[in-house]
Amino acid sequence: MAGNRTRKDSASLYALELDDQTCGGGATTNVVIVQHYPGTVNQYVTATATSLAHVNLAIPDHCPHPECQAVHSLIRWGSYRRCALTLEHMHQLTLQRLRCKVCGRTHSLLPDFLHPYRHYVIDLLHTVVSFYLIAGLGLCRLMKRLSHLGPARSTVREWIASFAYGAGELLLDRLLRHLLALDPALVLPDSPPEHLRRVSDPLKRRRLQRAHTCWLLAERLYALAKNRLPQLHFTAGQLFPFLLHWLQSQALPPRLLWSLRLPHTPRVPF
Ligand SMILES: [Zn+2]
Repeated sequence: MAGNRTRKDSASLYALELDDQTCGGGATTNVVIVQHYPGTVNQYVTATATSLAHVNLAIPDHCPHPECQAVHSLIRWGSYRRCALTLEHMHQLTLQRLRCKVCGRTHSLLPDFLHPYRHYVIDLLHTVVSFYLIAGLGLCRLMKRLSHLGPARSTVREWIASFAYGAGELLLDRLLRHLLALDPALVLPDSPPEHLRRVSDPLKRRRLQRAHTCWLLAERLYALAKNRLPQLHFTAGQLFPFLLHWLQSQALPPRLLWSLRLPHTPRVPF
């Protein structure tokens, strides 16, 4: 497991996005804005090697901070460095910062191959959570599917727990209300699968079962959105990026994984 430790230690040397709540408020508080980038991590690194202008992720038309929301107020405002991990490589990225001319806050512009506050690319988070939650692979079998250079077992366990909390506790009811508004005849998914009924801890089992329901409902929303918006960028494996954009469209933080170890993680559902 030496590879895991090395990777984990190296990753910790790189900053992630500044966190709104941990900045303590004031003019420097930061909101992470996820924007669509059509290429891969490699393509992003190559494109931005000399200048961020070669990527130029779209700037939102209003300040995302809930207390501001000023229209046409964001300007490009320097950059910051961040790492992005795949199973094979650790990439160093240059990311765009934005500043709101009205409230003075700075924000981070994150390409949607990443999940806010996570070093590993979102595609891997999606794969790992789906192996556990949907395919029913236990942790041992799941780890065998990943390269020895990939995430440590404790990291994978934390991803699953954070998704179970984010989707099962924070998001499920909000998503259900949204879907019912779109389709009052919505039929709820079947009861959770056997592999989740076997989880012994009752709280963990409840969260995982609700997260499973949330996943199935999110796929319904994705299908509905693709029907209405055939030009939608995403493909079948990109449920997570799609959901980050949907959360943002609902004025919610674009995050699916919420660690209960962090003090600013919401304690009440969205
Ligand atoms: Zn603002």
